[in-house]
Amino acid sequence: MAAEILDGKKVAQEVRAALKEEVARLKAGGLTPGLAVVLVGEDPASKVYVKQKEKACREIGFASQVHRLPEDTGEERLLRLIHELNADRAVHGILVQLPLPKQLDANRVVQAIDPAKDVDGFHPFNAGRLAAGLPTVVPCTPRGIIHLLDAYGIPIAGRHAVVVGRSNIVGKPLAQLLLGRDATVTVCHSKTDDLAAFTRTADILVAAVGRPRLITRDMVKPGAVVVDVGINRLPEGIVGDVDFKAVREVAHYITPVPGGVGPLTIAMLLKNTLEAALAGRGGGPRGE
Ligand code: NDP
Repeated sequence: MAAEILDGKKVAQEVRAALKEEVARLKAGGLTPGLAVVLVGEDPASKVYVKQKEKACREIGFASQVHRLPEDTGEERLLRLIHELNADRAVHGILVQLPLPKQLDANRVVQAIDPAKDVDGFHPFNAGRLAAGLPTVVPCTPRGIIHLLDAYGIPIAGRHAVVVGRSNIVGKPLAQLLLGRDATVTVCHSKTDDLAAFTRTADILVAAVGRPRLITRDMVKPGAVVVDVGINRLPEGIVGDVDFKAVREVAHYITPVPGGVGPLTIAMLLKNTLEAALAGRGGGPRGE
């Protein structure tokens, strides 16, 4: 039997509807959550992501602002903007869209963001708290994946989760979250010898690589939960890191691309911003 689809679009819509109601309540009480998005340069994918985020903010009732800076922006100019946003009380969340043009050091830029406003959860302060198992701002994509698994009642504790990819944005924080939920976690990467030997043992298999259809049917254990984070732009359209059609025949659950993890990422960005606004007011939970 073909795997059940983990419908990220539907789950994200539910999250957004709940957040919208909360935003309306907060606004009635005088608090409008504000997100500032900074886009440097002309990267086509980044422009699309920023547009999506802007639209999502508008729909939910946030005060959003997008700062578009030219490709040749120097570090000093960008850091000045971040310092201004850090000091702006109407801005609760700051997001610098990555990747940045090559003259800019992403680490230095991310570290300039006030950790309390770091709604991407990329600041080392927040990454460190996550690694230590402390409440913190959780990066949007990993948080969205856990939310999606929970929405379908998929058990995590005691399961073997294999995460392919070890980026600071997806793979590493997701591994921390899965560990925090009592999964046994294996993290694979480009130097992993015999990747298939690991993926075949996964109860929960997450591909966050950026290689079209890297995960083939023979690499998946029958009955596994397969989460595809990859976004690969091919002439025939956007495809994930998983050979969806073939893997769907053996998996129990699978996320589509598009319509799987992507919508949850944006929903969690909204959630992180709302929580930053609440925390800034002196209350409200942080993290999952
Ligand atoms: P990175 O390029 O930062 O990391 C990719 C990871 O994959 C690295 O750890 C790399 O290993 C590993 N890798 C590369 N090739 C192989 C291979 N052949 N076998 C095993 N591992 C390999 O990417 P990101 O984590 O930022 O993103 C991954 C994908 O997810 C991309 O397609 C991106 O577009 C997408 N994405 C989607 C989001 C969404 O909302 N749906 C959000 C964020 C990202 P090594 O460390 O050794 O180099």
